[in-house]
Amino acid sequence: DGVIWFDGELVPWREAKVHVLTHSLHYGMGVFEGMRAYKTARGTALFRMPEHIDRMFTSAHILQMHIPFSREQIADACVAAIRENGLEGGYVRPLAFYGSEAMGVSAPNLTVHVIVAAWKWGEYLGEGALERGVRLRTSSYARHHVNVTMCRTKATGNYINSMLALREAQACGYDEALVLDVDGFVAEGSGENVFVIRKGVIYTPDIASALEGITRDTVITLAREAGYEVREKRITRDEVYIADEAFFTGTAAEVTPIRSLDDRLIGEGRPGPITKLLQDRYFATVNGELDG
Ligand code: PLP
Repeated sequence: DGVIWFDGELVPWREAKVHVLTHSLHYGMGVFEGMRAYKTARGTALFRMPEHIDRMFTSAHILQMHIPFSREQIADACVAAIRENGLEGGYVRPLAFYGSEAMGVSAPNLTVHVIVAAWKWGEYLGEGALERGVRLRTSSYARHHVNVTMCRTKATGNYINSMLALREAQACGYDEALVLDVDGFVAEGSGENVFVIRKGVIYTPDIASALEGITRDTVITLAREAGYEVREKRITRDEVYIADEAFFTGTAAEVTPIRSLDDRLIGEGRPGPITKLLQDRYFATVNGELDG
């Protein structure tokens, strides 16, 4: 139960519905965001909300989709989705999608609708993932062309590939997929950016074929503040096999240690010291104990 913000109104959860001819349902074009609200000493705070809303508008700009609300209205909607559902913390999902006025690939004059929903969401990659880390399998699905040429968008249709990758990994008994780009370099997880650590230096793929993650950005800043060198560069699969430590970052996954890739243990196969330090600092930041 609860409410969902839908085109400017708070609608009961069960009544927040769309028509079966909703264009985005058929053709997959739409943009979305995911952010987390955390309980802090000063009340509930949406972590880096302006950056998430900016990315939503950037995604829409790339897709030439006009969001008929201002950034401020969407921000108010996100706050309302948390507050009106009585949540102290949780996940907030804004989504913009096309209406049901017309079918066909072009359909140039469709209306754009926006919803913002919020719900409780614990450990994204499964219970114990934050403490013990996750086991990965290299995906047989490369970051596909829409993602590779337009990976700045967080667009609904782009997630077919992520879904296939994650389902494949889980069906084979792993927790998450490691997705390569079309050239075979490491891109990211199905919904996370990836970092590896070797000899005290932290590496992460540049954003040519990965989403420009907001958590990634936070963790790069935290790592540099802690005195570590962070290098953005192309990373090969075997560099992950021989890393001392590795971890994922993402709004949903937060900072999740990676234990193994393709059955090769990373380091000792346990969360390493730099990963743990960055995870602690990340949680201190989102909880308002460290400046973010
Ligand atoms: N990569 C993909 C494909 C994602 O969907 C996400 C999730 O948002 C991320 C990376 C991590 O981005 P962020 O830290 O902004 O949540």
